[in-house]
Amino acid sequence: MTHPFPLPPGSVIGIFGSGQLGRMLSMAASRLGFQAHIFAPTGAISPAAQVSHFFTQGAYEDLDAVKNFAAQCDVLTYEFENVPAATAAAASSLKPLRPSETCLDIAQDRLTEKTFISEQAGVPVVPFEKIDSLADLHHAFDKLGGACVLKTRRFGYDGKGQVIIRELEEIESAWEKLGGHACIAEGLIQFEREISIICARGITGETACYPLSENDHRQHILHKTIAPSPTKNEHAKDLALKIMTALDYVGVMATEFFELKDGSLLVNEIAPRVHNSGHWTQDAGCIDQFENHIRAITGWPLGSASPKYQMEMTNLIGFDANDWQNLSAEAGTFIHFYGKAEAREGRKMGHVNRIIKKL
Ligand code: AMP
Repeated sequence: MTHPFPLPPGSVIGIFGSGQLGRMLSMAASRLGFQAHIFAPTGAISPAAQVSHFFTQGAYEDLDAVKNFAAQCDVLTYEFENVPAATAAAASSLKPLRPSETCLDIAQDRLTEKTFISEQAGVPVVPFEKIDSLADLHHAFDKLGGACVLKTRRFGYDGKGQVIIRELEEIESAWEKLGGHACIAEGLIQFEREISIICARGITGETACYPLSENDHRQHILHKTIAPSPTKNEHAKDLALKIMTALDYVGVMATEFFELKDGSLLVNEIAPRVHNSGHWTQDAGCIDQFENHIRAITGWPLGSASPKYQMEMTNLIGFDANDWQNLSAEAGTFIHFYGKAEAREGRKMGHVNRIIKKL
């Protein structure tokens, strides 16, 4: 099967998932003259379906529906990493899936991901241990220095599916909370700051990397990003590109790091997709992460990742979104809402990008 890349405007881009990332990918695709086709189990009023040319409502497990969807698209991508392996296999048997099934498979499981990054890409990660029993957890707690973070291997995000263990006495309750699932334990890192880097890689291996994002989390959810970060770290880009090369990655990927006192970096995780810490790129005077993802997967040349402004991105979480009237009156502030009907605690409703200064 041959595919005509670069894809011309008018081609159909299939996106698995219908949240805000799918919405912003769809809008970027539309700007380039492509047509986005969303596949998701949710209804047509979901954030991405609202702004897309086509929408298929279906279960990810319904492989006939998945194949029917794939047949109508020219290239396929996803906005979240928990697309089931069988869905990805069915879809990619018909049309190119970018990033590939392998990337998805590796990034879905914290154990596979950290093992791949350290052993195959040769990039330092947070120290970790595989946990299948309470005895494993006791052993790991000692090995990791008497404090650790227990995490489910799959389906964890925004701090869900993880418990910090600081005392011996907390081990059992942590295991009771998460032990029904396969887990890993990580060393509890005393980091100086959390940073991430968003990079795009095209089908012929060319790359475009944005400057570093410095991230402030509240209750494990990203609250604020400043980019380019006030302090540089030259290693982040090299490490992220090593991982992308090892994965033969196509598309935009986020690499999240803990920076230690001496400036060294440990990878916390990768996201095989556009990422919340890259939303600032939308209003920074460069080609944003969403467009660069679309460019990468359609075989277009990558766009400039050099911002003209230093930006601050703040998430509007839950009832923060009710402040839209005040926010809309602020000069130099770009507002992005995701079209979600009701605000709920912890739910990402939108974000604002503010210009800090011209670079
Ligand atoms: P994650 O879902 O793994 O990205 O974790 C969410 C947040 O929890 C991170 O952004 C950190 O603030 C914190 N965290 C996660 N893992 C660790 C760790 N091993 N050591 C210290 N803090 C962590």
